[in-house]
Amino acid sequence: MKKRKPVPFRAPEKFESLQVKRPETKAAGATAVAKAVQIVSSRVGILRGGKTLMKLNQVDGVDCPGCAWPDPDDERSGLGEYCENGAKAIAEEATTKTIGGAFFSQHSIQELSLLSDYELGQQGRLSEPLILEPGEDYYRPISWDKAVQIIGDTLNQLESPNQAVFYTSGRTSNEAAFLYQLFVRMFGTNNLPDCSNMCHESSGVALSETLGVGKGSVTLDDFNQTDLIFILGQNPGTNHPRMLTALEKAKKNGAKIISANPLAEAGLISFSNPQKVAGLLGSATPLTDLYLQVKVNGDLALLKAVMHRLLVMETQAPGSVFDLEFIQNKTLGFEEFVEGIKSEDFEALCDSCGVEAEEIIQAAELIKSHPKMIICWAMGLTQHENAVDTIKEAVNLLLLRGSIAKPGAGSCPVRGHSNVQGDRTMGIWEKSPEWVADNLAKEFSFSPPTEPGYDTVQAINAMHQGMAKVFVGMGGNFHSATPDTDFSSQALQNCKLTVQISTKLNRSHLVTGETALILPCLARTDIDLQSGGKQLVSVENSMGVVHQSRGSLEPVSDRLKSEPAIVAAIAKATLGVNWDHLVSNYDMIRDHIERVIPGFDDYNERLRQPGGFYLPNVARSGEFMQGKARFSNVQVPQSKLEPHQFVMMTIRSHDQFNTTVYGKDDRYRGIINERRVVLMNPDDIKRMGFKQQQVVNLTSSYQGVTREVRNFKIVPYSIPRGNLATYFPEANPLVPVDLVARKSGTPCSKSVVVQILSTKEQITNKL
Ligand code: SF4
Repeated sequence: MKKRKPVPFRAPEKFESLQVKRPETKAAGATAVAKAVQIVSSRVGILRGGKTLMKLNQVDGVDCPGCAWPDPDDERSGLGEYCENGAKAIAEEATTKTIGGAFFSQHSIQELSLLSDYELGQQGRLSEPLILEPGEDYYRPISWDKAVQIIGDTLNQLESPNQAVFYTSGRTSNEAAFLYQLFVRMFGTNNLPDCSNMCHESSGVALSETLGVGKGSVTLDDFNQTDLIFILGQNPGTNHPRMLTALEKAKKNGAKIISANPLAEAGLISFSNPQKVAGLLGSATPLTDLYLQVKVNGDLALLKAVMHRLLVMETQAPGSVFDLEFIQNKTLGFEEFVEGIKSEDFEALCDSCGVEAEEIIQAAELIKSHPKMIICWAMGLTQHENAVDTIKEAVNLLLLRGSIAKPGAGSCPVRGHSNVQGDRTMGIWEKSPEWVADNLAKEFSFSPPTEPGYDTVQAINAMHQGMAKVFVGMGGNFHSATPDTDFSSQALQNCKLTVQISTKLNRSHLVTGETALILPCLARTDIDLQSGGKQLVSVENSMGVVHQSRGSLEPVSDRLKSEPAIVAAIAKATLGVNWDHLVSNYDMIRDHIERVIPGFDDYNERLRQPGGFYLPNVARSGEFMQGKARFSNVQVPQSKLEPHQFVMMTIRSHDQFNTTVYGKDDRYRGIINERRVVLMNPDDIKRMGFKQQQVVNLTSSYQGVTREVRNFKIVPYSIPRGNLATYFPEANPLVPVDLVARKSGTPCSKSVVVQILSTKEQITNKL
């Protein structure tokens, strides 16, 4: 058999032309509108783009395929219920540019791998099923029937169903996710890793163990009723931009905002609301009242220091700070928790988090004087070894104040992908609770597997060791989203078959198994016409609201299939089951969901109500676990850095959504036209003998293995000493696959110990 030419595992290490400007101090405004119009008109066209944007996040429209920030329960903006990055997400999938057999016959995977991630994404929508045969370098068209038959045959030739991995990205609708997990469990495995493993898994574990549900407790309206919003490890200006509207409203209602972040992000400082004339003219609402420049992964020590101060205040005036009635009636573990706080040294906690004592005292004062508090967080808390403990510490603070299960108060992990929470609710989880298997068994008369499956990191290791031989990706870009790029790439290449169900070209289509299949699916903005008529799908946002989404655009190709139809075709070819009726009318899929997943009573009817419906939530209702929430007694992580070592966090630029790169600018941080940058404290640059824009390499060493990335330019930035920031996926090769958060298994992409070397310095003991 002909041998395929090698395919580089990484995007080319080539530079653009970097410009560095002063970071912005306000987000959105007229520039955001201009950027949105420019990108939509240039990639989709004014008419097609404008029509789609008018439908975006409207009650009978299409749900934004970007983040999972909720839509207002009341009035949706007639001007446009979306943000700049929502417009970019639409421009990404609503383009009329297509690539199919002709394109791939001209371009080998080796040639395509020399394109940057941005350039790959700009090639157009995938328009027909494609196969990359063993030993071949070029994809060629294949019929749908042949494609799914190859999948069915390959799966059925495996010695065990556990030799297959079925990955899900958070864009997948509830209906597709439910059918997918059903097919996978009928096939006989729980190998259902998903993107949540890499993002909010730590939140799910911490919240489930303390409050009884792995989801946030607040609603959007709570932001209108709160007194204080504490934002940790989140950059809403880029990753959840419509959250700024909620923060502005809260400020107008008199609320205060405390932000803890190693970077003073524009979207935390102030907001020019583009839906208002004043905002378009540049006036901005100040947001954060107290900004705490915490060290990377210093949040646990920070929260403990704040509670140490609150304990001092409480001791001076019992009942003035702690909600003793709530603690008495609704919690367990308070005494042990207080002993834990008492045993801490306040100064040491300040050192550990890198925040001055005065600022921590200020924060404690603000918290004391503002009873109803919402704590928001994102990846800045979830991607560390101690992430689960940090989130438990945030819950401790809410419980102390009795600031949960009441209006204006509670937990708010903000999800980064539009339906990542919904997919988990549908059963996309390698560790699904027993009731899922029991209910599936009752509903579909089969015995689902009960052994836990592989999460994302375990799946990578299993493919690398040859224990897993087939990888199926429902959306997403597994190659670029995962840590340890060279290792993960080798894992994918070890597979007999890799299948990507996708809308756009990305690097997961180039770093493949022996045989690779690309199955082009409808995008969320596309009309989903089945034999039973136009179909609507449903998604669940960060606040647990299940709502509908229906596309309005004619698909760019008649050779696309919907995700549910693709799953049904694969299930028929593999298991011989016939789900044509479910595909013809998704109401029938929802009827099954209603009988299997609690909280979906009258699903089809309630889904058609304007705005959809809220799922039950024991943290919101205050039921918790048998009526009690749990305090936790956790330890401050101890880390000692050598003078030449730094803690690196990987971040998104403003022109990026997960691994999708919309452009090369990071406007709010003043970084223009370059992604291969490392943000570094000016004193550290001086101390290390470097200079700005100097080209350097970075290495990380973990368990005796050294990893390296080359060609990054130094950008002086206000970041705590000893910390660095780089973009992913460019820096993912430095993140060790086995460096994961305890209990959740989430890769520690936000705290990797690295060295920064001039290009002349040698690297030893490479991977
Ligand atoms: S805030 Fe998130 S969901 Fe809303 S429009 Fe922007 S990207 Fe889309």
